[in-house]
Amino acid sequence: MSAPTLQEFQSQVSELLLRHRSLLDVVTKFSQSNASVNRAVSKSITECGCIALNAKNQGFSEEMPLDQAHLQSKSHMEGELCEQCREIIRNEMGKNLFYMSAMCNLLDISLEDVVARESDKCSTLGWFNLT
Ligand SMILES: [Zn+2]
Repeated sequence: MSAPTLQEFQSQVSELLLRHRSLLDVVTKFSQSNASVNRAVSKSITECGCIALNAKNQGFSEEMPLDQAHLQSKSHMEGELCEQCREIIRNEMGKNLFYMSAMCNLLDISLEDVVARESDKCSTLGWFNLT
């Protein structure tokens, strides 16, 4: 499976967009698909059990070295996604991305540009500024 560029994906979505021309409709679908991603992740925890949450204070501090913060940040999640949950979550993320692209199309925003700008921000912002 070769990945299309973001530009190619956006054009693809644009061709399929006929049924969802209304911006309001797309905004609603985007929101629903986002909730579906969250629900799929929750189900991996509560129904499948392949991943578990062990949520507590992570004890970050501003002075903490990055590698130390990285180590501690992993302590919240145990296990890894089973193939079935991975497939479901990937599928929901795809739909979410579809409606994100559809919204980009309707608003004349380039998805590639969105990613490029965010990537640029990621490389200039520090670890604690990412929230
Ligand atoms: Zn699972």
